[in-house]
Formats: sequence, C-alpha cells, structure tokens
Amino acid sequence: MAVKVCKFGGTSMADGNIMLTAAKIVTSDEQRRYVVVSAPGKRFSGDIKVTDLLYRCAQAVSDKDGAAFEEVFGKISARFLTIETETGKNFGMREMLAKIKLDIQNGAGEEYCVSRGEYLAANVMAGILGIPFVDATEFIRFDENGALSDETFTLGAELLKKYPKAVIPGFYGLGLDGKIKTFSRGGGDISGAIVARCAKASLYENWTDVSGFYACDPRIINSPKWISQLSYRELRELSYMGANVLHSEAIFPVRTAGIPIRICNTFKPEDEGTYILPGVVAPDADQPVTGIAGKTSFTVINVEKSMMNSEVGFTMRLLSVLDKHKISFEHLPSGIDTMCLVIENSHLKEGIVDVLVKEIKEAVQPDVVNVLEDIALIATVGHGMARNVGIAARLFKALSEAGINVRMIDQGSSELNIIVGVEKSQYSACINAIYHEFFN
Ligand code: ASP
Repeated sequence: MAVKVCKFGGTSMADGNIMLTAAKIVTSDEQRRYVVVSAPGKRFSGDIKVTDLLYRCAQAVSDKDGAAFEEVFGKISARFLTIETETGKNFGMREMLAKIKLDIQNGAGEEYCVSRGEYLAANVMAGILGIPFVDATEFIRFDENGALSDETFTLGAELLKKYPKAVIPGFYGLGLDGKIKTFSRGGGDISGAIVARCAKASLYENWTDVSGFYACDPRIINSPKWISQLSYRELRELSYMGANVLHSEAIFPVRTAGIPIRICNTFKPEDEGTYILPGVVAPDADQPVTGIAGKTSFTVINVEKSMMNSEVGFTMRLLSVLDKHKISFEHLPSGIDTMCLVIENSHLKEGIVDVLVKEIKEAVQPDVVNVLEDIALIATVGHGMARNVGIAARLFKALSEAGINVRMIDQGSSELNIIVGVEKSQYSACINAIYHEFFN
C-alpha cells in the first residue's frame, strides 16, 4: 500500500480539539501512516507558541532566575494539561512534565528544553491515534558540522520497517555528542520530509493553517492568486525569499527521492492545497511568473574599482573579509567594475559594518565602498520566465511606472528568478506593481 506522511504544524496542534481534528484527518485515509508534529502554536493572536515559552525557560535557567523559570514552566504545564483534558484522556502528561522539569533544572541544556514541545505533542497524538510514539532521536542524526547526517536515512528506513504506523516529534534529532540537537526554527517541516524519505512515501502532506501557496503575501495583496502546483526549485526560491509556508530546507530530503509535497489546510481539509512536484511544471504561456516573495532587511555593501574584471583574486580577497568574520552573504551581483555584497541584517551584529568596510578597503583597495542599509529584496519566480521574451522588460517598466527606484538587480543563471533590491519603504509598492503586471 502507498504510504503518506503527514506533518502537522503548530496551529494544527494548538489545542486538544484541533489535535482531535488532525487525528480525524489521519484516520480518514489508511495511507496516512506516519505523523510528524510540531509543538502547539498560537491559539489566538497574541498567544505565545509553546516553543517560544520553552526558549524563555532555557533563558531563565541560564540566567539562574528560578522565579522566571517556575512562571514560564507553569504556563507550559498548564497548556499540556489543558490539552489532555480537552481530548478527554490521560496520556501521562503530568508525569512527563515533572521529568522534563527536573531534566531542565539539572542542566539538560537549551536544545533539549526547546525540543520538549514536539516531544509532548507527539505523545498526545500517539495516544489519540492509538499508535506508537517513535522518538526522532532514534534515527535523526547530525554530523560533526551540525548538518543532517546521511546515516539518518538508513537508520530511519530500518526503524520504520518495525513500525507500520507511528507518530514522530518534529524539529530535533541527536547530535554527535549524544545530546538532543534541533533544526532551525520551523524545522519540523524538515523532519516531516526526512520521515517521508525514510518511509519511501508516495506523498508528503504538510498540514498547516493556509490552503497552500499564494502568488504573493496576502498581507500585501488582498486575495492573491492561489498556486495549484509549483516545482521544487520554485518552492526553494520562494520560501528562501520569505514565502514562509514551508521551511526553505524541507525539500532537500524529499528531492532526492522525488516525493511530491502537498500543502494542506487542517481547518479546510477539503481544499486541494498546493502540490510541489519534482519536475518543471509546464508553464502556462500567459502566466510566466509563478510567484513573488521578498524580505525586507538586507544591507548592501557596494564595492567599486576600475579594472576589477582583470584583477585576478579580487573576489577571493573581498570574500575573505566575510569569511574572517564568519558572515554569510545572500547574493553577489557584479558589473565590470562593481561588486555588491548583499547580507541579511540578522547576520550583522552592531558595529560590524564599519569593520567590514575598513577591512574591505585594506583587502582590495577599492575606488569607492558605500553601504546601503534597509534594502528589501523581491524575487519574481517562475520557470515560465526562461522561455518568454520580454519578462524583464515588463517587470522593470511596471516598477518605473510605479515610481520605484531599483537599487540592485540580480538574476541567477537559472533564469528562474529575477531579484530586485529596493528601499525598504518601497517594499509593498514594489510587490504590488509586479503582482499587477503579471497577475491582473
Ligand atoms: N516548534 C518549532 C518552532 O516553533 C519547530 C516547528 O514548529 O517546526 O520553530
């Protein structure tokens, strides 16, 4: 029988009643054999996700602030005890919480602490469904660099053979030191993709609180076009650039195995959702652009030097400055005599830009170095762009008609993506202009 892996996000685990709804979704299809869960998310606007509470707990422990720890841990306990009451059954939450509290107080560490939301939620879901809880530490392994180890897939495939059905907590695995290690935030999506590959699933269903991807952020455009299908590569570009329906790294485990992903809505399970498919989805000639996504907080360091093009090793020397400070960059658009380092602000600590500028001057003796702060990047993505003449012309005409000053342009070699950098204040106007050009 074909196997489907279902991953439920935080809003689908937010309370006991929603967990019961999620369980119904699982049991309504015999093929849904493996379930991966996130920690309970927000129940209403202003609510706090369990994972965020757990981060506060870990902080209180490191601050040796016993009162703060008790207060936050009390909130987490109340949340899980209420969930248990809402489901009408006893899943041993009280005992598990007591053990977790002791472990944290005895120095189990931050990653252990923040992973417990998934651990407890998975135990509840396993109880509701009456199927085994299988801990992610049994097969999800990280290597010496903290990256996912390939061992994960062999261990996982062997393990799942023993369990025809199981609930597995998302977001964490085991580090080389034998301790719990987590993925980056939202990493439960990666866990779901790992389980899908280990189970040789025919489909990885990612259940969330929206009915899939939209052509752009619905907070900017009212009711944007819904995307029924997109390719892995389009998904990677869009999610990396801010379309945060799915973690941008979640495609890697399923990509090798060619497993399709379906984004589905727990609150509207009848909606078709968005399918993310391995190959290129045949682009519609009238619809060259699949989606638009963006992020608002970048810094651009613009370096100019005449004859840069003929100076062997220029780029290497420039990038060695970033390497020295262990700062990664997102894009590196260049001209004959210019090169821009586009860096996400979250990678730049206070005062570091001045240090970088000074060291760049020493390393490459440029004619000019200037810094653009508060730059937003907007990516226009679609396989259809590669085959259609005049897409870039339409895009830049639309931006110029909307009075948008484009500060930077980058087009990857794939022709899948055109990225423009604009002032942060023009972010929404830029998305608006591109959307109306290609979708209206
Ligand atoms: N609970 C974790 C987070 O809030 C991971 C996840 O939800 O996927 O980031």
